[in-house]
Amino acid sequence: MATSIESTVSARSKYEPVIGLEVHVQLLTVSKIFCSCSTRFGDPPNTNVCPVCLGLPGALPVLNRKAVEFATLAAMALNCEIREASIFARKNYFYPDLPKGYQISQYDKPLAEHGSIEIATPSGPKKIGVTRVHLEEDAGKSLHEGFVGATDTTAIDLNRSGVPLIEIVSEPDIATPEEAYEYLTRLKEIILYTGVSDCNMEEGSLRADANVSVRPRGEKKFGTKTEVKNVNSFRFIREALEYEIDRQVELIESGGKVVQETRLYNSVEGKTYGMRSKEQAHDYRYFPEPDLLPLVVDEKWRTQIRTGLPELPEARRKRMIANYGITAGDAYTLTLTKTLADQFESAAKSAKNPKRVANLVQSELLGRLKAKGLEIEQSPISMKGIAEAADLLETGVISSKMLKDLFDLCFERGKDFPDVYEQEGRPAQSRDTSSIEKFLDEVIAANPKQVEQYRAGKKTVAQFFVGQVMKLSRGQANPQLVNELVTKKLD
Ligand SMILES: [Zn+2]
Repeated sequence: MATSIESTVSARSKYEPVIGLEVHVQLLTVSKIFCSCSTRFGDPPNTNVCPVCLGLPGALPVLNRKAVEFATLAAMALNCEIREASIFARKNYFYPDLPKGYQISQYDKPLAEHGSIEIATPSGPKKIGVTRVHLEEDAGKSLHEGFVGATDTTAIDLNRSGVPLIEIVSEPDIATPEEAYEYLTRLKEIILYTGVSDCNMEEGSLRADANVSVRPRGEKKFGTKTEVKNVNSFRFIREALEYEIDRQVELIESGGKVVQETRLYNSVEGKTYGMRSKEQAHDYRYFPEPDLLPLVVDEKWRTQIRTGLPELPEARRKRMIANYGITAGDAYTLTLTKTLADQFESAAKSAKNPKRVANLVQSELLGRLKAKGLEIEQSPISMKGIAEAADLLETGVISSKMLKDLFDLCFERGKDFPDVYEQEGRPAQSRDTSSIEKFLDEVIAANPKQVEQYRAGKKTVAQFFVGQVMKLSRGQANPQLVNELVTKKLD
């Protein structure tokens, strides 16, 4: 086996992967894109339907203004240029859950183009182009399980038919499965910040398909690509791409040819399987939708939409690093969601030392959350609680050992820091000078050599005495006070 793995690795290094991603994001509108039916998830099948979204003859679509605003806002957040007049087009294909026989989408004149997303790579930041962002309606859903008679029938639920989507198409700028993962993570984060979607992958609010091909390194021409569809987590997309790249390289190396096709990923086996040959654009017979006028988003409307654009995660991270003196790693953790970043900033502003607040999140909070299997939003200790703890630590009222114990109690009791601190009787470390001096005298008497070194000018030895006194006080002494007394006594 070893030799086969080695040969795969060496073969793989001769090729470079070219990856592009297509992401569908469901917009958080109350009603569908071309009718007033509800978009609510989980309602009984076929209850949120009307002649328009059922595709009955003669029913006419009316465009949802909110869907346009959400799509435009998302496109702006992705640094796209917004087209003044975009055109809806019919994408014709037959599918049981598409009663009209066509999907209303956008084709050669999409809502927005020429955007980009910045991702972090081992060799520094990299810009991935966003080719286009366009509006379209979702199709219905075919059900193969979970109902009576499912063994020999397929059922159709058309509640999802006509739900507004944006499709975000990337340039083939992505060079590794890791970059694809990073792109999707950043994309989701940006969309969540804008608030136009909940990006819930389990409910299908965010779906990603990947196009992947390989070519000999240095070659300009693209290889034949395959499309990996319906992968339901970013981690699985990364795995599916890893598998697919190896498969294509092995195929080419052994004299075979990659066939352009759609492939499905089986996450249990970690393999992709060919499903059907991939349609070309001309197979869809796109033509302008005759039932809808061109969509005009003029400058006045664009300006109005732009006012809804929040500070985006990348810009926010840069500002937070500068404002609070925190590291890039801190900034990534603290901007995970907009709510968390807002909470951190309000806590950091009131705290004596914002950097210490960030440190506590990294060193004392994340590990405890992970151990309990909690997300940061579910933390018993709020950002405000962390700020209060940071201040107590900063002013020397509590020691870091005491803080650790108090945080443990917060997690045990599921209570915030200020409550637990009250319950425990507002503990404080000892400022009792006489007992500290007693400990210090003991330490000095026991370590004449270190005293000599200190007096000879090696001032760093002071830390040794502080450490010894802290140990004797079982961590109860105030380190700042110990520090002062050590210098006083030895000088
Ligand atoms: Zn409807």
